[in-house]
Amino acid sequence: SAKAQGRNNFKVYNRAMDFDSERRMILETGIRRALERDEFRIHYQPKVDASTGEVTSLEALLRWQHPDLGLLPPADFISLAEETGLIFSIGEWVLRQVCHQVREWADLGLGDVRVAVNLSGYQLQQQNLVGQISQALEDAGVSPECLELEVTETVVMQNPDFAVAILRQLKELGICISIDDFGTGYSSLSHLRRFSINTLKIDKSFVQEVERNATDAAITQAIIAMGKSLDLKIVAEGVETEGQLEFLRGHDCHEIQGYLFSQPVAVDKVTEILRNGLDLKSLQAAT
Ligand code: C2E
Ligand code: MG
Ligand code: MG
Ligand code: MG
Repeated sequence: SAKAQGRNNFKVYNRAMDFDSERRMILETGIRRALERDEFRIHYQPKVDASTGEVTSLEALLRWQHPDLGLLPPADFISLAEETGLIFSIGEWVLRQVCHQVREWADLGLGDVRVAVNLSGYQLQQQNLVGQISQALEDAGVSPECLELEVTETVVMQNPDFAVAILRQLKELGICISIDDFGTGYSSLSHLRRFSINTLKIDKSFVQEVERNATDAAITQAIIAMGKSLDLKIVAEGVETEGQLEFLRGHDCHEIQGYLFSQPVAVDKVTEILRNGLDLKSLQAAT
């Protein structure tokens, strides 16, 4: 009966609540010790030149190898890290780890690999972020040109004057600055012009609809055109299909990132990609 069903649904709902709060408690206690226990991992996803298929750089994407819950994506723990203030130590760990890895690739004869690190809005507000970053580079013996920082449009627009100042200092060091998830926030062209940025990354929510949705296709096309007129490099994220790739190449998007070429992968796998390049079947098929 409906009543029995209702009762059943209620039970299921209740159990889900218990599960969520229990999971949250496990995560909260765990995250405090995750750094000491060395449970964070960095996966790397290649960015690819849209016309040649060459790997141009990598993006570092954080994972948490949780002892009970398995490999967790950032969505499961970044906001928790921000609430607890642990984002500062985690952010510093990511920067130092990435610099260390870039050094290792250079020592392996793989040249100067450039890696993009995502910055939380909290980090951008942090005292001495610039000092921390230059120290990490110096300690690893890595040149600032090897580091790229990705900040979202929304984070930058929360405090544009402050962001402009910090981003300018970072860029003066030689670090590349990217605006991530572009198109989902609301930055004006006049603001964009003031930022010392190098790259716009078109948000995957537009990219993934270019074949189906005329509005998203028009927005994507407009972002590419606008970015180019401002002399910025344009990267499309979340590219999964040949059709999306074809559209982006047709509109002269510079770089492509997405499962079509590679998922984010562990360090051994990406080292192999750096050594041998990607399997370019998909790019050739689109030519
Ligand atoms: P993001 O920087 O915009 O990264 C892109 C996200 O899209 C990544 O999710 C990536 O794995 C995923 N992705 C890449 N290609 C494809 C594709 O073809 N299709 C689909 N559906 N997804 C694709 P991920 O790794 O779960 O990271 C989510 C977000 O977490 C990142 O978004 C970034 O904002 C944040 N994040 C990651 N690492 C860090 C970090 O070290 N520090 C901070 N503060 N945030 C981080
Ligand atoms: Mg990013
Ligand atoms: Mg993004
Ligand atoms: Mg994102």
